[in-house]
Amino acid sequence: MNCIFCKIANEELKPDIVYQDEKILIFKDIEPAAPIHLLAIPRKHIKDAFEIKENTDVIMHIFKKISELKDELNIREGFRIVNNCGENAGQTIPHIHFHILAGRKLNWPPG
Ligand code: AMP
Ligand code: ZN
Repeated sequence: MNCIFCKIANEELKPDIVYQDEKILIFKDIEPAAPIHLLAIPRKHIKDAFEIKENTDVIMHIFKKISELKDELNIREGFRIVNNCGENAGQTIPHIHFHILAGRKLNWPPG
């Protein structure tokens, strides 16, 4: 499958990885929108948030790891998780990913 995040998961592409295990990866976004901008993805190709219901274990694992790694990821002062699902939300890569934004005051509402 021609999916850029599957290529990252199977090591054809090598982003700046900050954490990985058998189920997930967390790596630096190539176009950071905040001083800390990471992407957390499952290795498995899950298209979007509508498919979470069949994949709750790995999604729970992502959130558990983010919390466990708060010091290593430098997000202890607070962070935002963003998931864009579908065209109207601006999802550009159809492999579910969670943006982790931190390192400055984040505006709300995001617009
Ligand atoms: P979204 O618009 O929610 O689908 O987010 C896709 C994100 O992936 C964007 O923030 C991009 O900057 C990021 N991105 C695209 N290609 C890469 C890559 N090769 N390595 C790291 N981040 C990437
Ligand atoms: Zn994929």
